[in-house]
This record gives sequence, C-alpha cells and structure tokens, in this order.
Amino acid sequence: MCLLALCLPAAARADDSRTFFAMDTVMTVTVPGGSEALLSACEDEVRRLEALFSVTDESSEIARLNAEGRAVLSDETAALLGGALDAAALTDGALDVTLYPVVRAWGFTTGDYRVPDDGELAALLALVGWQQVTLEDGEASLPPGVMVDLGSVAKGFASDRLAALLRGSGVTSALIDLGGNIYCLGAKRNGSAWRIGVRDPDGSGEYIGVVAVTDKAVVTSGSYERFFVAKDGTVYGHIFDPATGRPAESGIVSATVIGPCGFQCDALTTALYVMGLERAEALLETLEGVDALLVDAEGELWATGGLRETFTPMGAYSAAAIHWIR
Ligand code: AMP
Ligand code: MG
Repeated sequence: MCLLALCLPAAARADDSRTFFAMDTVMTVTVPGGSEALLSACEDEVRRLEALFSVTDESSEIARLNAEGRAVLSDETAALLGGALDAAALTDGALDVTLYPVVRAWGFTTGDYRVPDDGELAALLALVGWQQVTLEDGEASLPPGVMVDLGSVAKGFASDRLAALLRGSGVTSALIDLGGNIYCLGAKRNGSAWRIGVRDPDGSGEYIGVVAVTDKAVVTSGSYERFFVAKDGTVYGHIFDPATGRPAESGIVSATVIGPCGFQCDALTTALYVMGLERAEALLETLEGVDALLVDAEGELWATGGLRETFTPMGAYSAAAIHWIR
C-alpha cells in the first residue's frame, strides 16, 4: 500500500510470485526461482497467523480474549502481544494495542465512519491503556470493556515468520510485501540490493525516494494509507493518539523504519507517527540497529545517519535537504 518494490529482479516470472488478500490488505511474496509449493506455504502461513490474531474473526485467540476477558494464548500470540506491550513501554504508550474500542467507534474496523462526540470519546478512553493488560505464562486477561487489536504489529510479525520459513527452506533471495510491510530477504539474485520505494504521503502515488536494503524490513505508516473525509471536509486518518482518542496530528505525516526485525519496524512506525518529531528524535537517539525516515507536515525530510548511503530522494524530493537525526 505505502511501499512498492520498484525493481523486481529481471528474472522474476509471474509464477515466481503469489498475490493474495489477507490481514485486510493485498500481499505479494516473490521468490525468484521458487516453487508453487513454497509460495503456497507462505500464503498458508499468513492465513494461519491471521486466524490467531484477527480482531474481527470471532474464533481467533484475540477475539476470544476480547469477548471473554481472559484467554490462554498460543506461544505465537503471547509473543506478539508481549512484544506489543514492550513496545508500548518503550514508546511511552504511543503504540497502544488497547485503542481498539476507540478505533472501532470511529468506524475504522467496519468502514461505517463517524466522528464520536467528546462524551463518547471520554467514556471510551477510560477503556484504553496498555498497562491494563495482564500477560503471565501465556495467559492474558483484560478488565471489563478493555479490548486489544494487534493490527499495528501483526503484518511485521508475519513478515518475520515468512522470512524464517523461506530461509529454513534454503531460500537466499526473496521479497515479502505484506501490504507495504516489506521484508527483503538477502539481496536480489544478481547480488545487488533490493530497492524499495517510499511513497509520497501526499497521496499522489509518487515516491519521495528509494532505499537500498538487504536482509531488512522496510515499513511505513501514514494516514494517507487509510482515512475518511467527513461532511465538513475534515480528513481523519487511521493512526490514533492514545492520549486524545483522535487521529494523531503530531506533525509527522509519514514514518518509515528500516531494520532487521519486521515486528520492531512495524511497532516503531506506528509509534513514531504518533509521537511527533521531538519525541521521535529522542527515541531514535536511543535505538541501535534501526534507521528511520520521517516526513513532516511541511514536506521536510528527517532521517537517521544509516540512510546517508542507502536513501536516494527522487521526484519532487530529489533536491530536498535532509535533516539528519543521528
Ligand atoms: P499501522 O498501519 O501499522 O501504522 O497500524 C495502524 C492500525 O493500528 C490502525 O489501522 C488501527 O487499527 C491501529 N492503531 C491506530 N492507532 C494505533 C496506536 N496508536 N497504537 C496501536 N494501534 C493503533
Ligand atoms: Mg505498525
């Protein structure tokens, strides 16, 4: 959705890739020289994880936890929920998987969009707060009315699982695109880095530039990916500020994170979008092994030093000055 593989390997045939709809988005897995069986295994793996994590599928572990307030979780669901709670602590609650009652009230789960009034939001915000989730020895529990949604991290987690599955099958080169949560396994078969385009958050479909990566995830969060326009013309995006219960307006309009763990990148992009520049910079100063590219509301670019060699701005941004964070 937000990112596109600009250059597929010249040798890639249509049957080297599989496109399918899962986790509410279009996914494409490309394995140059890969077999049908391998691509099917990837699709099956995503569907297996979706059946565990989906908030709307009543039989999923997360839906059961939400309905019953308590559930014994599989190792994978417990790992993902635990990781999301750790990320909430790291980001001072900017990532908060208990936002679900708020996100649902705005209609983002059903498409029946509406703007809740202040009273409704205040009541719903009382149900929000990641510290309310208890997870011990694989058993999770929630106070009445509190609900979790792992949608902000599930695709990144799934991309890590697919990379592990493919590596375990001896694959050394693949491109996993789970609705813009991209994982580049190895390099392209000709040995050059994968080149991943980062979308212009203005919604034009253009790119602000390209990052060259091997063996890393590239994940972007931006409200241009999913939003609705109210009758008065106000645009409401799908990433919420847990402090207000309203779509975040932090001054960051797009956050891209590049690093070895798709889950971590997915968690961080959502959080950085909410945090705004000052908090985002402070967090990025403390994180090693990941790079970030932020676009602010004025169209200025902010990036960490690892991108000096690997990011090439393009189009309207080709001459843009980049503010370096570290
Ligand atoms: P992403 O596309 O990874 O940035 O995740 C955004 C999705 O996660 C939204 O569509 C919501 O369902 C949910 N969400 C929105 N805001 C937050 C937040 N601050 N923390 C956790 N999940 C969120
Ligand atoms: Mg995310």
